[in-house]
Amino acid sequence: MSGSPRPVLVMKFGGTSVATVERIKNVAQHVKREYDAGYDVAVVVSAMSGKTNELVAWCKEASELYDQREYDTVVASGEQVTSGLLAIALQAIGLPARSWQGWQIPLHTDSAHGSARIADIDGKNVLASFAKDRTIAVCAGFQGVNPETGRIATLGRGGSDTSAVALAAALKAERCDIYTDVDGVYTTDPRIVPKAQKLDKVAFEEMLEMASLGAKVLQVRSVELAMVHNVRTFVRSSFDNPASPTPGTLICAEEEIMEQPVITGIAYSKDEAQITLREVADKPGVAASVFAPLAEASIVVDMIVQNISADGKQTDITFTVPSADYARALALIEGRKAAIGYKLLQSAKDVAKISAIGVGMRSHAGVAAKAFQALADRGINILAITTSEIKFSVLIDAAYTELAVRTLHSLYGLDAQ
Ligand code: ADP
Ligand code: ASP
Ligand code: MG
Repeated sequence: MSGSPRPVLVMKFGGTSVATVERIKNVAQHVKREYDAGYDVAVVVSAMSGKTNELVAWCKEASELYDQREYDTVVASGEQVTSGLLAIALQAIGLPARSWQGWQIPLHTDSAHGSARIADIDGKNVLASFAKDRTIAVCAGFQGVNPETGRIATLGRGGSDTSAVALAAALKAERCDIYTDVDGVYTTDPRIVPKAQKLDKVAFEEMLEMASLGAKVLQVRSVELAMVHNVRTFVRSSFDNPASPTPGTLICAEEEIMEQPVITGIAYSKDEAQITLREVADKPGVAASVFAPLAEASIVVDMIVQNISADGKQTDITFTVPSADYARALALIEGRKAAIGYKLLQSAKDVAKISAIGVGMRSHAGVAAKAFQALADRGINILAITTSEIKFSVLIDAAYTELAVRTLHSLYGLDAQ
């Protein structure tokens, strides 16, 4: 029940799309086009590009060990500014518009300040404003309110994508359009591979993998929500002429895609760090002694490689953790040196994870093996490998990131002709 006879549309604009007042005025024209076409419109905005980084840096400058709740108070301010500015820009071109902060909607979160999850969104106030006088709701992305504390909470970096998809689900929107600085989802980051191709459609599962393996075009949680609530989500460009927009990329169910290549996209992430423990006793319980303390500290271990020892006595264990958790992970492992019983700890932050993703991998054998050979032919050493049903990842020296991405992109026939 939308509370209104008109279809609802959610439009989200990222940081570069609202980077200046001039661009905000351009965004207002995109909104006007859809409003005039007959939609009730909820807009979700990010902070001006670079603003959130600046606010985060200020928190760190104030204190390295800042309080997460106050961090949320500070970083949520970027979206407050752009929501107000867009409402003003819309009013200036004769459209009724009002800004909404997360607590006003309300968008409720859990208590994980700094990277909160959305618990629920009550869409009735926004829908009532649509029903009353078709006022455009300009919502501050990235922020909500933790009902336990009544305080502002933010959704983790890139969280405005998630605000938008969640709002689209709550308002039963016809679609959710995510406007950004590229005109869709590409076979890989078009900024590092000029031959990357725009995809018309990407399956939810593939987009989920691409986002979690480094393609920051959508926040992972936004894709999860789009999949669970079946929200028709498009990624498209805000730099298009508002009068002649292009459709962008649809994120949709696998069944909607007619021809599926084996590999759909290549992603990379430099946010990984590698830790190797040399000469660990090869006996039951050793892996638990390494990984249980990391799990208790909520450190997510991604790749794990354990060698089979030649003599049955000692082995080496290599694993990766997010760069942000690297220092904590090292301290934990070093603090347990005696209990774990390793000889030497080696670690590196200058590593990168390169991943190839495609639902077509389910029905094809030997897809990853081809990549290992192609990387070897370029002299790129593989430090660790993981595979799952629709993707595989290799860990390499970060200096070879671009070469590796381009190599795999060509290998799987993804280069534009
Ligand atoms: P916004 O500020 O609009 O949220 P982001 O910077 O978060 O935008 O995401 C858009 C960026 O994602 C693009 O500029 C592009 O460099 C990057 N990107 C990485 N991988 C991909 C991909 N496969 N397709 C499109 N863009 C990608
Ligand atoms: N402004 C926030 C960030 O930079 C949220 C977003 O843009 O999605 O992470
Ligand atoms: Mg983003």
